Amino acid sequence: MQDCYFCAMFKKPATKINIAIDGYSGCGKSTLAIDLAECLRYIYLDSGAMYRAVTLFFQQTHWDYRNPQQLQSALSEISIRFERNHQSAILLLNDRDVSSEIRNMKVTAQVSEIAKISAIRKFLVAKQKKSAAKKGVIMEGRDIGTVVLPNAEYKLFLTADTEVRVERRFLQLQQMGQIVDRGEIRKNLEDRDRIDSTREDSPLKCAEDSLILDTSNMDTLEQRNFVLRDLEKKFPRISNFCL
Ligand code: C5P
Repeated sequence: MQDCYFCAMFKKPATKINIAIDGYSGCGKSTLAIDLAECLRYIYLDSGAMYRAVTLFFQQTHWDYRNPQQLQSALSEISIRFERNHQSAILLLNDRDVSSEIRNMKVTAQVSEIAKISAIRKFLVAKQKKSAAKKGVIMEGRDIGTVVLPNAEYKLFLTADTEVRVERRFLQLQQMGQIVDRGEIRKNLEDRDRIDSTREDSPLKCAEDSLILDTSNMDTLEQRNFVLRDLEKKFPRISNFCL
């Protein structure tokens, strides 16, 4: 991407902060986080992809996650890494690229059940905290502002009308070549929101110091520009903006 006026002007060392983005399923967290990371030249971390990878691991192996001993042994066999591949990030589960597989409906239908398990959360949260230790990270998920990065300098909580979310997810899946009926998508989004918001360990909720952004009537560019302007106001030294 070519540098815009602001990027060229602000080539001085910038203040690095951490940005936490949480919210319901299908509100556009990933698109916004990726856009912001590109503009700010920050590292993007999709914590949901990690829960999906663990879900895929249990679906493809003999381990029983309901058995505490087996669960611990299984976790010691899991390696999860993000790598950059041209423009996008790929997720490697035990050195195998599973970036597409973790988006299938079988994983999507089970991931919130897996994400309820405290030992799994502990395992992934430790990795997520470590990735953000040097700042300059935009992490999205369900418990980032509350549990993973409670000291993040900037926190967003995204919401959107259910029908808007269903349509967005439908188009996303269609682009990935997956034909899924809108009813099934709606049920999955509602089920996941319910399980994610009511679980005992780190439920999905808005951190007290989060800015709430309803994306129902905003396209992706409007969302990105709104956040960049707000960041510019609050952190004048953050620089490298692509407004
Ligand atoms: O973000 P995504 O929709 O890919 O996340 C899949 C699932 O992973 C969520 O529905 C939730 O159950 C779980 N998750 C979580 N905590 C996070 C990120 C995702 O529990 N920080």
